[in-house]
Amino acid sequence: MLIECPRCLHEMDRHAHLGDPSKQPRTGDVTVCIRCAAILVFDTVDVREPTEEEAIEFASDNGLQILRSVIVKLSVNPASVETVLRVWNDRRKARHR
Ligand SMILES: [Zn+2]
Repeated sequence: MLIECPRCLHEMDRHAHLGDPSKQPRTGDVTVCIRCAAILVFDTVDVREPTEEEAIEFASDNGLQILRSVIVKLSVNPASVETVLRVWNDRRKARHR
């Protein structure tokens, strides 16, 4: 299933973002578009831009901001981005439990 970045319209394979094909993205998981570095949030069927409250939270997340910088400044291997996103999502969920 392909999803489309609402900012740049880049099509992404939602499985590729989480790296592990056995895991499915869940509502509330966060990803970053590998083309434009937009922070996106998975909803029930697609991705959306963050709410204002989420954007404030993400702006103060150093790991996420570093990841965005890497995407913007470097040509990175998408597999590396997926691994970083998976770890970041796991840590974010652990903080909110
Ligand atoms: Zn994009």
